[in-house]
Amino acid sequence: MGEQSSGGANARMAIFHDARVLAHATGDGFFEAPPSPLLPIIERHPENRERIENMAAVLRDGPLADALDWRTAEAATREDLERLHDEAYIDELAAIPRDATRAFSSTTIFGPDSFDVCCLAAGLAAAAAEHVHRGDGRLAYALVRPPGHHAQPAMADGYCFFNNIGVAIERLRAQGLGRAAVIDWDVHHGNGTQACYYADPDVLTISLHMPHGAWGETHPQTGDLDETGAGAGQGRNLNIPMPYGSGDIAYARVFDEIVAPAVRAHAPEILFIAAGQDANQFDPNGRQLLTMRGFHELGRKARALADACCDGRLVLVQEGGYQLSYAAYCLYATLAGVLDRELELSDPLAYLREDTRAVDALVAELKTHPLFAPAPGGSP
Ligand SMILES: [Zn+2]
Repeated sequence: MGEQSSGGANARMAIFHDARVLAHATGDGFFEAPPSPLLPIIERHPENRERIENMAAVLRDGPLADALDWRTAEAATREDLERLHDEAYIDELAAIPRDATRAFSSTTIFGPDSFDVCCLAAGLAAAAAEHVHRGDGRLAYALVRPPGHHAQPAMADGYCFFNNIGVAIERLRAQGLGRAAVIDWDVHHGNGTQACYYADPDVLTISLHMPHGAWGETHPQTGDLDETGAGAGQGRNLNIPMPYGSGDIAYARVFDEIVAPAVRAHAPEILFIAAGQDANQFDPNGRQLLTMRGFHELGRKARALADACCDGRLVLVQEGGYQLSYAAYCLYATLAGVLDRELELSDPLAYLREDTRAVDALVAELKTHPLFAPAPGGSP
């Protein structure tokens, strides 16, 4: 039997994780680039096993341990993958010898056994979604790597190969799910998820990201406001470029005044969060300023939104977050917010002082866009 409700501060959350996702090997170098012959000290690729080891540890041993139920799951099947990804692309990844390393770009590294890990990550995300969709619980989190939100139907991108949230949504749709919504607060544009659902009226995709624009051939989307969907999906793809240096107040205001109304208008049956922590103020890949308190607020707001519009059905899937220590603490803060728990771990680093006038200007400007302007019909 499932839980009676998502249930205030007594809520529980299922954590879908398997230590075998640590095996995906991305190598070392000049941060994410190949090593420099000038530098004797090379460092880990930012998307490494240690970041997830720290996240798992802070959840397993920290203040939320009593509220978390750890689960594992089977790898995504070929059928799961084919619902979202092109067959030829799946074949291409599957054909890479298990002992080989292939660089899809200088930063997108597919190492030995990565195919199995990518299938496992997608399977864990799909199992988290099924857990919630089936009513076994209201809240689930998939602690996985590699991340998924840059992966497109036929293209690897960023550090992503299969779109974990997309595979999860498609498994639920095969079981009768109607409408879903994805809020992506990873600091990078969720271009892969956008590409998967750009013409789909039933899956609302919202990405809050720094305005990094396109990069290279694999990432042609810019993440601009005017990428609003196509065909029947017109108006169901919302990009919200957050100015560099946006912090806790900006993210909270934009969530309340722009994101939440759009999700409510879509009336999803389940809410997904592409939960990166790389908008934190110390992330090497981000230029934003969120603190633990900001992630705590985002977690609280996501839970309140799910409670208000889809009976509390909320699935979070791990995306980016690359500062080894602070990303783990920000994940803890996020899930504490979702679980309606106070922050019991103090922030060892926060010092943000945010310009609220800049936040007012940002929100006012967003509201001038036709997608977000208040409309008499109540649609976003
Ligand atoms: Zn990211």
